[in-house]
Amino acid sequence: MHIYQGKSVLEGVAIGPLRLMHSQKPTITDAKGEGAEKEEAKFRAAQQKAVSILQKLYESALSSVGKSDAEIFAMHIDMTEDLDLEDAVIDRIKQGANAAYAVKEAGNEIAKTFAQMEDEYMQARSVDVLDVCNRLCNCILGIEEESVRLSTPCILAASDLTPAQIMQLDKSLVLGFVTARGSNNSHTAILARTLSLPSVVNTQTEIPEKFDGCLCVIDGFTGKVYINPDEATLQQYKQKQTELLAEREMLASLKNAESVTKDGKKTAILANVGRSLECDVAIESGAEGVGLFRSEFLYLESTDYPTEEAQFAEYSAAVQKMQGRPIVIRTMDIGADKQAKYFQLPPEENPALGYRSVRICFDRPQILKTQLRAIYRASAFGNLSVMIPMITSLQEVRFVKALAEEVKKELSQEGVAFRADMPIGIMIETPAAALIADELAKEVDFFSVGTNDLTQYTLAIDRQNQALEKFYDPRHKALLRLIRFAADAIHAQGKWIGICGELARDLTLTEFFLKIGIDELSVSAPYILPLRKRVQSIDTRSVLLETWL
Ligand code: PEP
Ligand code: MG
Repeated sequence: MHIYQGKSVLEGVAIGPLRLMHSQKPTITDAKGEGAEKEEAKFRAAQQKAVSILQKLYESALSSVGKSDAEIFAMHIDMTEDLDLEDAVIDRIKQGANAAYAVKEAGNEIAKTFAQMEDEYMQARSVDVLDVCNRLCNCILGIEEESVRLSTPCILAASDLTPAQIMQLDKSLVLGFVTARGSNNSHTAILARTLSLPSVVNTQTEIPEKFDGCLCVIDGFTGKVYINPDEATLQQYKQKQTELLAEREMLASLKNAESVTKDGKKTAILANVGRSLECDVAIESGAEGVGLFRSEFLYLESTDYPTEEAQFAEYSAAVQKMQGRPIVIRTMDIGADKQAKYFQLPPEENPALGYRSVRICFDRPQILKTQLRAIYRASAFGNLSVMIPMITSLQEVRFVKALAEEVKKELSQEGVAFRADMPIGIMIETPAAALIADELAKEVDFFSVGTNDLTQYTLAIDRQNQALEKFYDPRHKALLRLIRFAADAIHAQGKWIGICGELARDLTLTEFFLKIGIDELSVSAPYILPLRKRVQSIDTRSVLLETWL
């Protein structure tokens, strides 16, 4: 038995014969081109060919995995035609490079910029840039893209897999995959999750040729891959696979069920998303709405402040996808670990305690005003609310409300449709906000607890500092007491309170949250159904709060 350790992409178990897949990268030299004009023409023709390949992949993905994941290929089309990439390639061609070399070099440079970003999602986009440029190079050099022909069910092993390669596979024959490289935020990983393929990436060592055809087990819980497992290991995983299947069928039956306890207490279970595309997944996963739309992703993906129109397009798309279900857009939470270069924020000694979110908007109100205009305009399309992060005082809330009033006045004067009574809420991410929740509740319509930051600020632990991980305890009494204190104060004013930090999905705390009357829990899509099952199993009459506090 041989064991490889990688990063899990999707929890689950896959058992089957291993099939090794090789991909050959084209050899690209810096040999002199045939002159700028001809090389540019080669590049333009390659762009067209690549777009038509991607268009076909998009259409095939649309019918096999649905719109949300098909968008990966729409994004690759945009990247293929991206003006920054184009300029970088043409510049190099003008300096004498051949077209393929120019694309390769420009792609490497752009990919490096993505790889150096703080946000993990953005880092994973560097792989997309390389994939797009690889396809362009193949088109320039006249190399056909390889596709793997499968005839029997198998677990695929490769150095890395691109989303295009995954799409071209016969999905009914792939049980899972193992790659030596890649991250669990890559689009390949995202596709694997949509296709429910238990997979492991980043084993770092390539699986040797001699294991081609051998029996393989993927443990998508631990990220372990067993080749030629011994009999006991094999039996253990077969058993686990049977149990998981039964569990999945049971959870699927809860998709349209109510989130209500045995004693009749209801709590809404919603999804946390980062972009409008994820709203489809949220609904498919049984979400009753979106409890947190982290709008800062739009800012992090841009190279300059996103325009009102770009924001309006994204927010109105999200609202419409939710088809009348509630959706809460959080205004941009830039700063601390989420840095966008064009904000040109000054370097800080303690970024987590520094210039972040609404604090930046005090000095640069136009940023928030533009965003609020886009959000109010989108409010005409459905059940939208806006939420402000990182609040510590009444003064901040009043500042945002005054801006909202200005925006409403402008939109009315312009004759633009919007919902004048769109609810405004705030996040409880600081002990200060929790402790003055009674006063804040007189100013706003609702609250959502951001337990990730509330833990950081209550326990004085930088959430980014790995050395402090063992002290970062979101179940600390201090935190639970703050949440209960805030919930009581907010309910006393007749307002509602949800939880959208990671703690919302901690099934050992669901009883506590329900007992103190938390009105909604918002979690990432895969946690919705297990949470609903947990809610249904609870009888709050027998829960003793003292156990927690
Ligand atoms: C939180 O702080 O719990 C939260 C939901 O916000 P973020 O994780 O985006 O800071
Ligand atoms: Mg936060």
